[in-house]
Amino acid sequence: MHIDVNSAFLSWSALKLLKEGSSIDLRNEIAVVSGEEVKRHGIVVAASIPAKKIGIKSPMNLADARRIYKDVIVTHQDREFYRECSKNMMRLIKYLFPTYEQFSIDECFVDYTEMRKLYGPEVKFAHKLKDEIYKRFGFTVNVGIGNNKLLAKMASDFEKPNKVHTLYSYEIKEKMHSLPVRDLFMAGKAACAKLESLGIKTIGDLANYDENKLVAILKSQGKMLHEYANGIDDSPVENKYDERKGIGFSKTLEDDIEDKTILYSELSNFSKKISQELKKRGMYARTIVVTLRYTSFKTYNHQIKLDNNTNLEEEIFKNAKLAFNKLWNLEPVRLVGLRVTDMSNNNDIQLSLFDENHKVITDKELDNIIDNINKEFGSGTVFKGYNNMKKEKIEK
Ligand SMILES: [Mg+2]
Repeated sequence: MHIDVNSAFLSWSALKLLKEGSSIDLRNEIAVVSGEEVKRHGIVVAASIPAKKIGIKSPMNLADARRIYKDVIVTHQDREFYRECSKNMMRLIKYLFPTYEQFSIDECFVDYTEMRKLYGPEVKFAHKLKDEIYKRFGFTVNVGIGNNKLLAKMASDFEKPNKVHTLYSYEIKEKMHSLPVRDLFMAGKAACAKLESLGIKTIGDLANYDENKLVAILKSQGKMLHEYANGIDDSPVENKYDERKGIGFSKTLEDDIEDKTILYSELSNFSKKISQELKKRGMYARTIVVTLRYTSFKTYNHQIKLDNNTNLEEEIFKNAKLAFNKLWNLEPVRLVGLRVTDMSNNNDIQLSLFDENHKVITDKELDNIIDNINKEFGSGTVFKGYNNMKKEKIEK
């Protein structure tokens, strides 16, 4: 199933205004949400369904929207409130489905395969789910049901709002192939222009087109779109949204800083917070990313992949310093950030003879073993190798 909030930002803004005592529900009006930042000023970021019906859509200049309808109601976005609405819904989904995948702030996939035994036939349950979301949180969703994520996602995009749609494999021809090719998931503007130049107008045209010719023109994207047009997608529902983003902190410094000790102390502070957050979530991270932005506003990252997952503050800080020293060009720093990614909930450790933190035997024991092997199989069978790292480290 794919669960998708209908005109999320607009619905959530409507909800906020209602909560504040407004008598108008933006969802029923010709209304838009506009960006709050200066550089996005005057851009429509979401439009109500009545607004969409008369041709107002995002991203469109507010001026153009007003040209279409002079009295369009404009409200500013409130990211904080949106995150809260999103969290509430995702919490319910997580509670109901052990296997879910948050896809964006207002969309997620759930794997219903095993849940059918518990919750019964999918269509009936999907209706219950969307009604429950509305009852609890006050906004509507579409639920798409399909044999894989692609089909479920395509299905949830059918008629809106507040609907359940199915797109089973046997319904592909009937329900999907007549749609314009731009409606296919992942078919961007550039790709569609190329497809249309080949005479491909509908998803059905694409499905029946020669795959080799598509690959010649669009490379791997051609293959993927051809598969999608045929309803093929074997990607699993994976809970990776949080992991993808990882956990991170950054700080814009009050002055441009050239003093390494100050930058180190920020990294130390971030390491502590990240470690606490990992422990709270019961997770471990494998990759450490340091971000620096210079006075020139140029921003750079350096990442270090660890040998083992960790949630330890000192381990994170140690590697943050390593990454920082690789990255820093001694220019004044405007912003410093630290993030861990590649997260999982296991801390299985790759045991190593040589890793200082996870040594399984002492150097003395190692020497004894080497001696014994060489006694038994002839001298020089096994010997120590050294590399030129600062601390002489036995390689192999
Ligand atoms: Mg949506």
